[in-house]
Amino acid sequence: MYRGISESGLGLIEVESPAIGRADLALVHDPGYIEAIEGFCLAGGGALDMDTVVSPESWPAALTAVGGVKTLMETLREMEDATGFALCRPPGHHALRARAMGFCLFNNVVVVAALLRAEGDRVAILDWDVHHGNGTQSLVAADPGILYVSIHQDHFYPFEGHPDDIETEAKGTTVNIPVPAGTGGDVYRRVWETLVLPVLTQFGPDWVLVSAGFDAHTEDPLADLDLLDADYGWMASRLARVHPPHRTVFALEGGYDLDGLRHSARSTVLGMAGEEHFGPPLSSVPGAAPAVEEAGEAIARHWAV
Ligand SMILES: [Zn+2]
Repeated sequence: MYRGISESGLGLIEVESPAIGRADLALVHDPGYIEAIEGFCLAGGGALDMDTVVSPESWPAALTAVGGVKTLMETLREMEDATGFALCRPPGHHALRARAMGFCLFNNVVVVAALLRAEGDRVAILDWDVHHGNGTQSLVAADPGILYVSIHQDHFYPFEGHPDDIETEAKGTTVNIPVPAGTGGDVYRRVWETLVLPVLTQFGPDWVLVSAGFDAHTEDPLADLDLLDADYGWMASRLARVHPPHRTVFALEGGYDLDGLRHSARSTVLGMAGEEHFGPPLSSVPGAAPAVEEAGEAIARHWAV
């Protein structure tokens, strides 16, 4: 990913990721859980669940992943003409208040959202990782000042993220758009333009945090969607039209094809930096359009779309 971003040709400022402080983590995670993760990792590690295996090095890695997203936000806050990408692992969007899941220990993006909320800012989290961010949704669903939007593969891990979740707790601020296996960039671009960005602009966030997984890429070995590098750039460029890049924080989530990660990251930062022209998308299976229509009906109960 670092190579891909370097290859963009954009001026690059590297910012170190410091470890996040306990007090910041505790805004989102149960203090007993934080201690348990530390103890489990430092005692040698092992499997927290079927997918989530840790070692002693996982503890500092998890702290610097959250710290990196926070530092990126603080860095962008001082700048006028910049965009930023947090190259963090482990990812975060499956992490619950007191439970690790799906490679995730702490919810990197939600910790930063909580810091911004503490200052009164409104926050939108856009999650284009192929998996639904069940951890993120559960942590922010009750807060009307945080919008969560997820496009994800339906009937797929973690088997959550239904359009009707829009009716739970802070009504209207949980927006789920599940799409079937075989969905390509043609439908993603239409969803982005006709559902995601209209809801975003009506919500009017101060900050946009992007849970930027790249596992919806057609080359990704874990999932079955058909995005190309160009689709990520296209989505980033359309986001940049409606929200300032220096108030947008990209944080890595999943993505397991190394070339896909590299090229998609390059495309994403170019899109955020103002590049508008990206190649054409792949076409979707016929089932994609009705799925999007169903999600659109749920969204239309709360937003003008
Ligand atoms: Zn994922």
